[in-house]
Amino acid sequence: MELPNVYGMGTVNSYLVKGSVNTLIDCGEDTDESWSRLNIQLQEAGLSIDQIGRLIITHAHVDHIGMAQRVAEASNCEIWMSDKVYPWATQLPLLWNQRVEIMKRSMSLFLSPDIGNGLLDMFHSMSQQVMKQWGIIDKSRIKVFDHDGSSVMIGDVMWEVIYAPGHSNTQSCFYNKSTQQLFSADMLLKITPTPVMEVASIDPWIREKSIITMLDSYEKFKNMSISMVYPGHYEEFDDPIVKIDHQVNRIYQRKEECYDLIKSGISDLVLIFQKMYKGRWHFPAFNMTLAYIDLLEAENKIKLVHNDKGPIHIVPVES
Ligand SMILES: [Zn+2]
Repeated sequence: MELPNVYGMGTVNSYLVKGSVNTLIDCGEDTDESWSRLNIQLQEAGLSIDQIGRLIITHAHVDHIGMAQRVAEASNCEIWMSDKVYPWATQLPLLWNQRVEIMKRSMSLFLSPDIGNGLLDMFHSMSQQVMKQWGIIDKSRIKVFDHDGSSVMIGDVMWEVIYAPGHSNTQSCFYNKSTQQLFSADMLLKITPTPVMEVASIDPWIREKSIITMLDSYEKFKNMSISMVYPGHYEEFDDPIVKIDHQVNRIYQRKEECYDLIKSGISDLVLIFQKMYKGRWHFPAFNMTLAYIDLLEAENKIKLVHNDKGPIHIVPVES
C-alpha cells in the first residue's frame, strides 16, 4: 500500500500480509492524508483497520514508524520492533534531538555561516515538522525482537531478521528462507538509498560513517539468494544483484569524481557539492557528498583540516 511521503520520496510503502494474524510492515507518517490512504487501501484488500493484529517496523525513520501509535490505537494491534528501534519508541524526543544536533553540527563544521545559517533554519523547521508526524508509541503495545539473526512472524510464516545498517543504523530487513523473498526496508531500492546523517551507535556525540556500514550491508545482500525484493519505497523488483552492482559501482565512481575535485584544489564542501550536483540544494545530496568524503577519508586519500574561523578544509593526503 502506497502512502504519501512529504520528505521527497513521493510515497512510502506499507505492506499488508494476510494470515491468522493480519500483519502490516511499516505504516507511513502520522498525517490525516496518510491515515485515509491506509484505510482506503485496506478496504480494497477486504479488511478494516481493526482486523490488523500486528505492525512490524523496519527502522526508526518517520515515514516508516510515524503512524504506528495511531494504527495501534485503532486496531489494538501489537507493534513489533527491533532492540535498535525500541529506544525511538520510548525516548523519542531525546533521540530525535540527538539526531538533529549531529546533523546541525555536521552542517556547521562543513559550511560557512552565510550558507550554513540559512540551511540550519530550513532544517530546524523541517525537524519540527517531523515531530508532528511521529506519534509517541505506548510502551505496553511494543514487542521487541533482536535486530539481527532472530525471526518474526509475518502473516503465518516466520521470517528471518537481518540487520541492514547504512541508510539508518536502526534498520533491519526480513527474509523468507523458503521463498527467498525480502522485505528490504530502505536498504535495497531501485535508487541508491541515502546514507542519512545520524549519531553513532557507540556515542551520541559522534556522527555515524553510514556509507561504510551501507557498503557492508550491500555485500551481505549480494551474497544471498533473493527471488523478490519488497522495498520501503517504489515498486518491487527481482534483480537485486544487478541493482546492488550498479549502485555500488556508481558510489565508487562518484567518490573518485569527488577525489578529483579535491585534488584539483577545491577544499570547500559547498563547492564540491555544487560541482557534483548541479541542481539546487537538497539534503540527500548533502548526505551523499559527506559520504564520499567519509569514504575518501577512510581510504586515507584526504584529510580534514579544522579551521577556527571557517568551514573545514578538505585536502588530499600528500603522497
Ligand atoms: Zn524511507
